[in-house]
Amino acid sequence: MRSTLAVHLLLSCALLGCAASPRPAAAPADCELFVLGIAQDGGLPHFGCDKPCCADARATGRVLSPACLGVVDRRVGKLLLIEATPAVERQVATLQQLAGATGRGRQPIDALLVTHAHIGHYLGLAFFGREVASTHELPVFCTPRFAAFLRSQGPWKQLVELDQIAPREFVIGEWFEPWPGLGVRALTVPHRDEFSDTVAYQLRGPRRSVLFVPDVDAWERQPGLLERLLEGVDVAYLDGTFFDGSELPERNLDEIRHPLMTRTMQRLGEAARRQPGKLRFIHLNHTNPALHDPAVRAQVEAAGFAIASEGERVSL
Ligand SMILES: [Zn+2]
Ligand SMILES: [Zn+2]
Repeated sequence: MRSTLAVHLLLSCALLGCAASPRPAAAPADCELFVLGIAQDGGLPHFGCDKPCCADARATGRVLSPACLGVVDRRVGKLLLIEATPAVERQVATLQQLAGATGRGRQPIDALLVTHAHIGHYLGLAFFGREVASTHELPVFCTPRFAAFLRSQGPWKQLVELDQIAPREFVIGEWFEPWPGLGVRALTVPHRDEFSDTVAYQLRGPRRSVLFVPDVDAWERQPGLLERLLEGVDVAYLDGTFFDGSELPERNLDEIRHPLMTRTMQRLGEAARRQPGKLRFIHLNHTNPALHDPAVRAQVEAAGFAIASEGERVSL
C-alpha cells in the first residue's frame, strides 16, 4: 500500500513537473515556481526558543527560512518574489541560482508580491532600502490598504520616497499581470489584520496554476473559503502552521486561529487521495512535529498530502 502510494506520489510529481532537487532540470520549463522557505515567520531555529525543536537545530546547523516562493519566467528573463522575509538575501540568492539568473546587482528581482504586514512576510522590504540593495522602483504588488501603510509609515515610506520601491495596488479578486503572460489574483482571507489586510495568491502560468495561502484563520470561520481558493488550482501551498494543536499544550484548541493540519487533512482527504502531492503544507511553526518527527511526516504523506520543501519546483 505504502509503495503504491509512493509510486503515485512520484508519478504525480513527475506530471506536475516538481522535484525536491534544487538542481536545474535538463530542459527547464519556460516558467517555473520555486519554494524558497517553508517555516512560520520566525523560521527554524526560532529566536527565543530553547526547546529541543530549536536547540537541536542550532546544534546541527539546520536552518529553515520563513515561507516564500519565487518565480522565474524565462520567456522574458524576469524574477518574481512572493513575500519579503527577514531571510530575503539568502532566498533571492537561491532563486537566482535556481533560475540561472545571477549577477543582477542592485535589481535582484523584477517584482514582489506580499500577502500581509506580519514580520515574516514583509520585513525583508527593509533590505531593498538605502542601507542595503537600494533598488530602483521595484514594483511591490499589494492591496490598497498595504500600499497606504507603506506610503505613510516609517521606515517603509522612505523606500517609497526614494523610489526604491513602487507600490502597485491591485484590485482584490481580479487577475492582473506583473508582466505579460504571468497571471496573478489576490483573494482576501481572514487573519489578524493590524496593519494591512491579508490575501492569498493564485498564480497562473502558461500551463498550471498555483495557490499560496500561508496565513489564514481556521477554515470554519469562513465557510466555502477553502473551496473557493482551490478552484482551478493544480498545486496548493496551504497554511500548515500547527499540526494538531498538541504542540501547544498551554493553549486551548479553540484559541488557535490557524487551521490545524489535521483538520485541513480531514476536510480535503478525498481530494488528496485523488491527486496525491497536489496539496502541500507550508509556513510550519518551529514546534510543528511534521518538521521533526518522521512518523508524523509519513502520516501526512500516506494521506496524499505533502510538506513543502525548500528548493522544490513546479513548472507553471
Ligand atoms: Zn506568518
Ligand atoms: Zn500573519
